[in-house]
Amino acid sequence: MQTTPLSPDSKLPLTCSRTGTCCHGNRVWLNPWELISLATEKGITAREFRDLHCMYGGIRLLFNGKAGYLGRQACNQYIEHFGCSVHVGRPLACRLFPIGRQIQNGEVHYMYQGSEFPCLDGCPEVVDLPQLTVAEYLQGQQTERFEQAQDAYLDVMQNLADIAFMLLLDTGLAASGDRKTLAVWKQMGKEQPEALVTRIGNEWMDSLMLPEIPYTSDPILFSQQHNELLQQKLQEACGDLQTHQELHDASVLTMAMALHLARGLGANPTQLSEHWINIATQHGALE
Ligand code: SF4
Ligand code: SF4
Repeated sequence: MQTTPLSPDSKLPLTCSRTGTCCHGNRVWLNPWELISLATEKGITAREFRDLHCMYGGIRLLFNGKAGYLGRQACNQYIEHFGCSVHVGRPLACRLFPIGRQIQNGEVHYMYQGSEFPCLDGCPEVVDLPQLTVAEYLQGQQTERFEQAQDAYLDVMQNLADIAFMLLLDTGLAASGDRKTLAVWKQMGKEQPEALVTRIGNEWMDSLMLPEIPYTSDPILFSQQHNELLQQKLQEACGDLQTHQELHDASVLTMAMALHLARGLGANPTQLSEHWINIATQHGALE
């Protein structure tokens, strides 16, 4: 889809008219720190928040509220005539909207979807409100820690993928002529999120989305502790694997977790799995 690139100085009608239009019929993806931030704001546990208010094991907010703008259902955190019930803990996607954010070669890029400013569709009145630069808008939305969380979880995702690579490439599995593992990586890249949740199973989904770490407002610390827990658990589970079937299963599980987390970070699992398959084949794995 076409996007319009933005610079920090781009000036746009970024003062929100607070009609809640974009809290209807949207997709809001979550990382584990955003999940616990929302739960903390709500005064419940991350597990309760996930089970009551999320889809796909906690990577997406449920939009099953009352139908509003264009008959689209509201986010279930939206309260009619009030707004967002979790405003202080709202995730990055909500803080950024209508702006999007991407990292390419380590550099952050901001943009919006399409050639026309997205708010104009549902909230044309924004043209009469004060314009803001992108930098002013991000500061006002206090995106900094939420952007840090996003970047820190990209590292967690890559670490999971690295373990999936290691189980395939460094154990003799790929050298044995195995073609099954990359075939499943490819299939998983195209699977619906609910299918990946089933593959991963409850225990590992909990490890991925509900780490037993108390909430901290520091997303880097939280994600580092989460990363350590995941690495430790995977080491215990994978340290003594013997057969090619066991190694295959472990590589598939770890890649499934990396792809599921990636979707929660707004990445495209199909493109990502293809990218990782390319790297694996360059290192001797067979498709
Ligand atoms: S569409 Fe834009 S102006 Fe309308 S509620 Fe959302 S952010 Fe505010
Ligand atoms: S979390 Fe809040 S801001 Fe985000 S979509 Fe839901 S109601 Fe809207």
